[in-house]
This record gives sequence, structure tokens and C-alpha cells, in this order.
Amino acid sequence: MRTFDIAVLPGDGIGPEVIDATLPILERVAHGAPFAFRFASHPGGAQHYQATGQALPEATFESARRADAILFGAMGWPAIRYADGTEIAPQLDLRERLDLYAGVRPARALPGIPLPLADPRARSIDLVVIRESTEGLFASRGRGEVIGDAEARDTMVITRRGSERIAEFAFRLAARRKRRGRPGRVTCVDKANVFRSMAFFRKVFDEVAARHPGIEGRHHYIDATALDLVRRPWEFDVLVTENMFGDILSDETAALVGGMGMAPSGDIGDAHGLFQPCHGSAPDIAGEGKANPTATVLSAAMMLDWLADRSGEEALAEAAVRIERAVDAVFASGRLAPYEFGGRDGTRAIAGAIASHL
Ligand code: ATP
Repeated sequence: MRTFDIAVLPGDGIGPEVIDATLPILERVAHGAPFAFRFASHPGGAQHYQATGQALPEATFESARRADAILFGAMGWPAIRYADGTEIAPQLDLRERLDLYAGVRPARALPGIPLPLADPRARSIDLVVIRESTEGLFASRGRGEVIGDAEARDTMVITRRGSERIAEFAFRLAARRKRRGRPGRVTCVDKANVFRSMAFFRKVFDEVAARHPGIEGRHHYIDATALDLVRRPWEFDVLVTENMFGDILSDETAALVGGMGMAPSGDIGDAHGLFQPCHGSAPDIAGEGKANPTATVLSAAMMLDWLADRSGEEALAEAAVRIERAVDAVFASGRLAPYEFGGRDGTRAIAGAIASHL
């Protein structure tokens, strides 16, 4: 029996609410399984900063670094800021310090959830945006140049190492998805027709694609991708792109499959993985029990799948599939109506329904 250490960072606002709802679901799938979880909760976030002057205590960071995986709620609170006026976002520090270079943002249309696209084919949307998270235009964060009041510059940085590892990640994920019936296709999203940096990104992508003959590698310009994600999103499988493009596209794809409460994510590197809902701390509904925990539950399923891939413990991958199927089943039944979609079902009702189904 292998026990996996999970560092739990609930954070601020609805973070602790959606985490509290998710942990019993993980306990449920571990019951009678050949694996177990040891959860340890650690402080951090904006409210912790207000109380102690530290947003991400070193002890929390060390525990996250040593754990097998990190399950994260949400951190940040609009009214609590650093002295320079910027918001408290320890998730960015974790991303940098643990080299979590792949931002994985799946978008899958769940049965029973209202979708913005009327075309019935939208029901088959099942894609993943992979956002390079360590360089690109964000490499300029805090380093941009303002020349008097006449000009400002930020620089996009694309390296061979950064492009190669993100493309590799995308092809490996597409192969894993192909084994479950997806088409096995990676689309490189760039602007190679205009920028040398983007042509370089595409060149490295093509080199990596040549090493994966079982997976189809395609190219699509960012503007055409923004258009086609609205026109025919069901044709995409895995998309891989630069940091800033990925930031924008992953919000678009989250919108395609419903609301913030449905969108899971993973921030993954070679040595560490952090899993969290795409949403923030939602101060407007914090403390009211209205938060939809589904995004966190699906992020936890991603965590199990990632742990399965790393450890070779296939029962973890089966548990991930069980959780996804339970989520699908409770929403397909039409009995749940989250507050987010104008209904009256809150955190406890939704998590309870998923747990009962399991
Ligand atoms: P951040 O910048 O920290 O990511 P944000 O400004 O994007 O945060 P969120 O905290 O994600 O904002 O909230 C955006 C809106 O979505 C709010 O109206 C919030 O109530 C709603 N929302 C976010 N998460 C959920 C959820 N799990 N369930 C229901 N509504 C949610």
C-alpha cells in the first residue's frame, strides 16, 4: 500500500470551502483502494499575510516542495495588498520556485451544464490548453521599460529549453489522452507569420513533433485559433502555446464549457505538480456556502491522474476516471442546479451528490 503525501493549501475566501468539500471525495475513492492519502494543511494567502506579514511562509513552501502533490484552493483578496499596491499571489511564487512550467487547462463540456454555444456539437468539446508558464511575454513581468512619457516596452523571451519541454509535455499528454479515445492531436498556437520568436517556437515544436510519429502535430495562428474556438471548438484536442496567448485562450475555453466553478487546472513541472480550480477566492460569495466545488473536485482528479503517471499506480488513474464519471452523472441527472447557473445548490449539496454517487 503506497501512501501519498498531499500538501493542502486552502488559502482565502472560497478556497477553504471548496477544499473542505473535496477532501472527503478523495478519502472516498481511497477507501479499499491499494493507495492512501496523507493530507496536511498549510497556511498561506492574503489573510495570512494580513495577520502575520507573510503570504507564503517558508514552512508552507518546504512542505509543498516535499509533498507528492499540492492541492491548492485560492489565494488573494482585493483589499489586502503589498505596500507597492500589487495583489498577494503566492501561487505565482510557487510556480516560479517549483519550476511549474506547464499550465494545464482542460475544457470539457459536462452533461447538463448550460453552454454558451447553441450548436449541439458543443456538447462534445473536450480539449486542453497547455500554457507555457515560465517565459514568453511574462518573462518581462516587473522588467518592462518605460521611456519618459513617450514609449514603453516589454520583451517576449522564447528559449529552446522552454519550448522543447512544453512541446514534449503536450505530445505526451496527447498520447495519454489518445489511449482513452481522443484523436491524438497537438496544435501549436503561435504568430509565426509575424514574429521571429514565434517562428522559433514553431521550429522547436516541429522538431519535437518529429519524435512523436503516433500523434498529429498541427499549427494554427493565435488569431485564427481565437476564431475557431468559437466556430468549431469540438475539433481541438491538445493546444500548446506561449504564456500570454495561453493566459487569454484558457479563459476563452473555460467560458466555452460553462462557468468558473467548472474549470479545473494543473501547474506541472518535472518534479512537482500543483492542482487548483481556475477561479480565485470569489470575495462576493465567500462564507455563504454558494461556491461550486466542481472545479476543485476535477482538479483533484487531475492530481490523481498525474500521480498515477508518475508512480505507475494504475488504481489512481482509475480513481480519477471514477471521480470524473461521478461528476458527469450528477450533473447529467439534472437534479443539481448550482448557484452559479441561477440555481439553489451550494457547495455542500454539490459535493454531497458527487460523494454519494461514488
Ligand atoms: P483571481 O484574479 O484571483 O483569479 P477573479 O477576479 O478572476 O479572481 P474570481 O474569484 O474567480 O475572480 O471570481 C469571479 C466571479 O466568478 C465572481 O463573481 C465569483 O463569485 C464567481 N466564482 C468564482 N468561483 C466560483 C465558484 N467556485 N462557484 C461559484 N461562483 C464562482
